[in-house]
Amino acid sequence: MSDCLFCKIIAGDIPSSKVYEDEMLYAFRDINPMAPVHVLVVPKTHIPSADDVNAENSAYVAKIFEAIPKIAASEGLTGGYRVITNCGEDGCQSVKHLHFHILGGKKLPDQLG
Ligand code: 5GP
Ligand code: ZN
Repeated sequence: MSDCLFCKIIAGDIPSSKVYEDEMLYAFRDINPMAPVHVLVVPKTHIPSADDVNAENSAYVAKIFEAIPKIAASEGLTGGYRVITNCGEDGCQSVKHLHFHILGGKKLPDQLG
């Protein structure tokens, strides 16, 4: 999608700090990290949110969840980490291209804010 920030990042039209990439996904550092490690993982196809995952595109999500342990290991997250996807208005999703936050590198708060 031409007006989507993360599609532009995937295309290389907007610079990003790449962590991992394969044919189906792209992982890069969040511009405003909320933890010592804060990586975003996105499918290389425009899926607006978790609410739009279906039988046609769920292979992208499976690939992302296969990559997450590899990314966590390469980032040194031996003590664990958190995977989050915000969805829609109530979920406070700000970028409307499905993405999974990987957060770690410290003990994370155990409560929602
Ligand atoms: P959301 O709030 O939609 O779950 O998360 C969007 C995330 O994208 C935020 O954590 C925000 O800091 C990050 N973000 C927004 N714009 C950019 C950008 O241009 N580059 C990078 N690397 N991250 C961005
Ligand atoms: Zn997009």
